[in-house]
Formats: sequence, C-alpha cells, structure tokens
Amino acid sequence: MRSTIVGKAQAPQLKLPFDVDKIRNEFPILGETVNGHRLVYLDNAATTHKPQVVIDTISRYYEAQNSNIHRGVHTLSQRGTDAFENARQIVQKFINAPTPSEIIFTRGTTDSINLASQCLAQLVLNAGDEILVSESEHHSNIVPWQMVAAQYGANLIVAPIDDTGEIVIEEFEKRLNAKTKIVSIGHISNALGTINPVREMTRRAHAIGAKVLIDGAQSIAHIGVDVQDLECDLYAFSGHKVFAPTGIGVLYGKRELLEAMPPYQGGGDMIKEVRFEHTEYNDVPYKFEAGTPHIAGAIGLGAALEYLSTIDFRAALAHEDELLNYVSERLNDIDGVRMIGTARDKAAVASFVIDKIHPQDVGLLLDSQGIAVRTGHHCAMPVMQHFGIPGTVRASLSIYNTRHEIDYFIDALLKAKSMLA
Ligand code: PLP
Repeated sequence: MRSTIVGKAQAPQLKLPFDVDKIRNEFPILGETVNGHRLVYLDNAATTHKPQVVIDTISRYYEAQNSNIHRGVHTLSQRGTDAFENARQIVQKFINAPTPSEIIFTRGTTDSINLASQCLAQLVLNAGDEILVSESEHHSNIVPWQMVAAQYGANLIVAPIDDTGEIVIEEFEKRLNAKTKIVSIGHISNALGTINPVREMTRRAHAIGAKVLIDGAQSIAHIGVDVQDLECDLYAFSGHKVFAPTGIGVLYGKRELLEAMPPYQGGGDMIKEVRFEHTEYNDVPYKFEAGTPHIAGAIGLGAALEYLSTIDFRAALAHEDELLNYVSERLNDIDGVRMIGTARDKAAVASFVIDKIHPQDVGLLLDSQGIAVRTGHHCAMPVMQHFGIPGTVRASLSIYNTRHEIDYFIDALLKAKSMLA
C-alpha cells in the first residue's frame, strides 16, 4: 500500500529481527486492562505509547541530571546540557539533517508550524502574496497560516483533494504562481492516511521560488524521513507521535533559511547580548529557543529515536503496512461500512463511517470492549466537509499492533453494529 517504506536516513542502520511480541513487551501500557479487557490501542495517530527505555531515561534525567541547561558551570548543569545537545544530534541523524544546528526543539508540530509561520512570514510575506496548503491539512497546518495571512494581507489558497483523499496534483500545480511564497503540506493525512508526494510537490514549489514546509506529524513514525532527500525548507514533527513524551517537538530548517529568519519569541537563551538600546540574537538554533526548554522531553525524544534504531524499522513498517491492508480488507467486507480515504499510497490509518450509525456511539461501544479508537473530525474539518460527513471512526496503527488485535476489533465492531442498527 505504501510505496516508500523507509527512506535513506534509516535504510543502512542496524538491526535485531522484528518480533512484534518482543516489541509489545517493551511498552508497559500495552499490558493494561481497560473495562475488564486487555487494552487494544488503535489510536496511534493521536499519540503513541512509550517504551520502557523512554520512561527510564526520563526518570534517570530527573534522578541524576536535572538542572537548567546552557547557563551553568556546575556539573549537573553540564550533564543536563550534554544530554540535551546529544538528543539534538540524535534527531539530526534520524531525519538526516546536515547539521544539529538545523534542529530546533519546540513543544510539538503545532508549535513548530506557529514558529515557522511567524518567522518565515517576516522574511518572505507581503500584501497580496499567497500561501498554498491542501484541503487535507490538520487544523495546525491551516490556522497558523490564516493568522499570518491576516497579519500581512496575504491570501490562503487551497489545493483540493479528490474522493480517494489524494491531493489533485494538477490543481496543486495550477495554484503555484509568482505570488506563491509559502507552500505547507502534510506528509501523511491524519484523517485519511494518504501519503502525499511531498518530494515532487516540493520540487514544483521550489521551481517558482516558494519556501516549503512539510507537516511531518504523521510521517515521522511511519516513513523513514530524510529531509535532504525531500529537499523541504522546513519539516515539523511532534515527539509524542513517535514514542516520545508530549510537550516536545522539532522544527527542522535549512541553515541558511534559519539564519535569515528573524525570531518571534524573545527571552533567555536566544540572545548573545542584551542592551536597552539593542539586543544581539544568538546563533541558530538557539535564536528560536527562548526560555527554558522541555529538557526531559528532548532527552526522552532522543531515547525514543535511539530505540527505533535498535529495531529493524524497515521490517516494523512492513508489519504495520500488512496490518493496514488486513484491517482495510476486513472493514470493506462489512455491510454498510464506507472507507473514507482510499488513496493508492496510504499509511497506518483506516477511517470509516457506518450507515446510519454515529461514529461516537461506535467509539463508546468499542471502548467498553477495551478498544481505543478515535471518533470525530480528527482536527481536519475541511476533510469532513469534503466527504459531507461530521466525522469518522479512525483506527490508527503502530508497529506494536497485531493481527489478533485487528480480529478482536472487527468482532467488537460487528457486535457494536448489531446493537446500534
Ligand atoms: N499535523 C498533523 C497531520 C497531525 O496529525 C497533528 C496531530 O494529530 C498535528 C499536526 C498537531 O500535532 P500536535 O498536536 O502534536 O502539535
């Protein structure tokens, strides 16, 4: 189903053979009981669970390293700083960024896109200019652009999707013109699972001189991301969607662009020198990291990405892909089920509606069986408007899900359907 499973960044790394039972044992929450049933967690597009090594790394940070970073000469502060900067290097390698200075720690994808939009707009946006997004974006990749468009008198332009959930590339191209200064596209749609051809779209946007941001919230854990191969100017993701804690995320940016962009938040750590008359900003990436960061979060993110480098990530994603094919087939076989999002290239997400049954009722009945799915608009209201529905039931997968869980989910869904019909 997925044409690109692992990009260059992950391909050459290590590996222990993929064993889903072994992987599951590393995620303690998967042993939890919910409403008297073993948890079946199919809400991974919302957030992923954390392996023991991430939990332990965070505990160890607070037990042995906790201190504010960068400013201290004492030993604890050095330990904290080293661990934090080491995490930056781990992220750099994971997404194949050329240098660690191109990795900005943020609170998550939303924060990264807000940072990018406010800072990039100062550099490139003028009245009458255009920002191009697609109809399948998450609200986090719409609203920040609407805000800067209003601030600068620019226009937000939307490339439509078709009824499979793919961006219509000819329509995307038609909307690229000399006024297009920024293109911001989701790598994988969280509501539909569509993998967008962002590499090709980036090339086309660059041909007319636009800067390109890729919202990688859903791709970071489901495709091997290589920012040099993608050639994007900016790439945003959240730690919590890739087995790391909440409250930490990343904005990657090409160094030259980051150096040219002014910061939008001021405070400690982002300066070299402060005078009342004039302040000199720090070098990248610190220029964009005002205030005390989420130190434990960054270190936890480093641990999560290192964890992924100890497993056969390629095999793990192939397993996830096989599960997506299986769950899609099983859902397609159920009378009255309509899949929402049937793109040729998809990852990890099976979104659907059932005739005459509200998604929320399905979600509640599944929860009573210990199954976690998400219901509603998934922060992608324009997608729901496109399909003329208020929301979907979304089962979203991760490397630790199993075929047995899918069978259990389908049985529970059939039961729920017969109760609600
Ligand atoms: N973009 C996409 C495609 C997402 O799926 C999400 C979260 O679901 C976000 C952005 C926002 O991520 P966060 O809430 O972690 O900032």
